[in-house]
Amino acid sequence: MLNKKIIISGKIKTVTGLHIGSPKETAEIGGIDSPVIKDSVSGLPYIPGSSLKGKMRCLLEKSEKPADKSDEEWFNRKVGNSKIHVCNDRESASSCPICRLFGSTGHDHGTNHPSRVILRDSFLINGWKEKFRKEPLLEAKTEASIDRVSSAATPRTIERVPPDVEFNFEIVYNDESNGATEDIKNLFRCMKMLEDDYLGGSGSRGYGKIKFLIDSISERDTEYYTGKKGEKIILDEEKGVEELIETIDKLW
Ligand SMILES: [Zn+2]
Repeated sequence: MLNKKIIISGKIKTVTGLHIGSPKETAEIGGIDSPVIKDSVSGLPYIPGSSLKGKMRCLLEKSEKPADKSDEEWFNRKVGNSKIHVCNDRESASSCPICRLFGSTGHDHGTNHPSRVILRDSFLINGWKEKFRKEPLLEAKTEASIDRVSSAATPRTIERVPPDVEFNFEIVYNDESNGATEDIKNLFRCMKMLEDDYLGGSGSRGYGKIKFLIDSISERDTEYYTGKKGEKIILDEEKGVEELIETIDKLW
C-alpha cells in the first residue's frame, strides 16, 4: 500500500564537462566521433534518469558490499558488459537497501521488487535552453585514444556539456511501509557519493563532476490525490546535499 510520495526537486549543475554518450554513438556531421545524448524533440542535451539511477545504484552497491562476500557472490547478475548486485527474491529485496530502493528482478515469476524511486530525465533550465539555442555551447574535445596493441594514438573528438550548465531534476520516492527513513537517507547518500564520483564517460580524465542543489521537498499522501488536502512542504529553500544530510533528522 502506498502511504505517500516524497517529491525532491532542484537543479543539477555541471562542475566539469559532462559527456553522456548517445546510445548509438553514431558519427555526426562536423567531425564529432562521440556526441552527447540529446532530446529528440528539442535537439538539446539532457541527462537521462536512467544514467542517474544506474550510477547511484552502482555506488550504493559498492558501499554496501559485505566484507565477507566476494565480488562474484555480491555482484551476482550480468547486465550488458557489467555485473550488478540483485536479490533473487522479493523478501530479501525488501530488506536490502539497494534492491528496496532501486528495484530487483527476481529469478522466478512474481518475485520482482519494484523500484521505490523514480528518477526523471533532467532537462536544461529555461535560461540555459535559450543560451544553447542562440549559440553552439557544446564543447568538442579532441582526445587521443591509444591503441593498446600498436601504441598508435588516434585522435577522437568527444562532445561535452560545458561546466556551470544547469538542468532541472526531480526524484519521486514512493513510501510503502518499511524502511522509508533509511531509504531517504540512502538516497541522499547516493547523491553525495555521486557528487564525489562522476556521471557519464571519461571520469578518470576529469569529466562528469556534478553538484545537486535541492530547492524543494514535499510529501503527498493519498488525501492529496483525492483533493482533500494540500501537500506537506518539507523544504522550500535551496540546499546542497551535504547540508541536507546534516539536517535530515530534523526534516522528518
Ligand atoms: Zn539486494
